[in-house]
Amino acid sequence: MFDINRKISIVIPVYNESESIRFLIEEIIGVMHSNNYLFEVIVVNDGSNDLTFQTLEDLSLEIDELLAIHLRKNYGQTAAMSAGFDNTSGEIIICLDGDLQNDPRDIPKLISNINEGFDLICGWRYERKDKLINRKIPSKIANQLIGLVTGIKLHDYGCSLKAFKKEIIDDIKLYGELHRFLPVLANIEGAKIKEIKVNHRSRKYGSSKYGIDRTFRVLMDLLTVWFMNKFLTRPMYVFGFIGIVSILSSFLISSYLIVIKFLGEDIGARPLLIFALILGIAGVQLFSFGLLGELLMRTYHESQNRPIYRIRKVSQSKK
Ligand code: UDP
Ligand code: MG
Repeated sequence: MFDINRKISIVIPVYNESESIRFLIEEIIGVMHSNNYLFEVIVVNDGSNDLTFQTLEDLSLEIDELLAIHLRKNYGQTAAMSAGFDNTSGEIIICLDGDLQNDPRDIPKLISNINEGFDLICGWRYERKDKLINRKIPSKIANQLIGLVTGIKLHDYGCSLKAFKKEIIDDIKLYGELHRFLPVLANIEGAKIKEIKVNHRSRKYGSSKYGIDRTFRVLMDLLTVWFMNKFLTRPMYVFGFIGIVSILSSFLISSYLIVIKFLGEDIGARPLLIFALILGIAGVQLFSFGLLGELLMRTYHESQNRPIYRIRKVSQSKK
C-alpha cells in the first residue's frame, strides 16, 4: 500500500487568481492532512498583476508546507508548471489549476492509482462545467484529433489535474503549450498511463486566461508532438524510405521513356517526363532530409545525454 514516506508535491500555476488561491490551498491542506500524506504545495505565480503576489506571501508565512515561486513576468501555463516541477522534492507530482475548477478531493484517488504501478494518471472531466461553444466542442474535436494522430486515446487531454512519478517529468522538456501533451510525451518515454474520471467545478472567481485562439496553438503543438512521436529515433526509416521509393520510381519511368525514345517516339511533351523529374528531385530531397534528421537526432540525444531507452526497474539478487 501507500508508503507514508513518499513525499507528494502539488504544483499549481497561477495567473491572476488572488481570489481563489486561499480557498484552494486550504482545501488541499485539508485533504492532505486527513490522509496523513507527507506533502508540499508549490504555487507558481506566473507574473500576476493582481493581488496574487501579496496573498501568496501572506499564505507562505502561515502554511509550512507552502512554497511560493514568483516568476518575473507572465510566461504562460506550461512554463509556470515547468518552474514548479523543477523545484519539487517529492516522488509523486500532482498538478492542478489555481482556479478551483479541479477538486482536491480527487487527489487520494490519483495517488492510489500511482501506487498501483501507473506512471501517469490523467483526470477526465466527464461532467465538465464550462461553456459549450467555445470550450467543450473545440475540446472534444481536439481530443479526438490528438487521439487519432498520436494513437493515445484519452477523453480529456486538457484536464490539468494529473498525477505522475517525478522520474517521468525528469525525462521530458516542455515548450510552448506542451503541458497538455504530457501523456503523449510520457508515452514516448515509456510511461504506463491511465485516465480516471474526476470532478469539475465551474469557475467562481476571476476569468479564464484563454480564448478560442488556443485551439490553433494546440493544433500547431500537435504537429510537433506527432513529429517527435514518429520520427524521434529513426528519421531515416521514414524519409529515407520514401526518398528511395521516389528515386527508384523516377528511375523506372525514365528508363521506360528512354526506351520509347529510341523506338522513335517523341517524349518531350509527355506529362510522364515531368512526373519522373519531380519524383527524382523530391526523392533526393527526402533522402537528404532523412540524413539530416539522423544527424539532428544524434545531436538532440547526445547533447543532453539522453539515452535512447528508459529503464523502469533493475533487479538483482543480493547474494
Ligand atoms: N495560467 C498561468 N499562466 C497563464 C495562463 C494561465 O499560470 O499565462 C494558469 C491559471 O491561473 C490557471 C491555469 O493556468 O490556474 C489554467 O488556466 P485557465 O483556468 O484560465 O484555463 P481554462 O480552465 O479556462 O482552460
Ligand atoms: Mg480553469
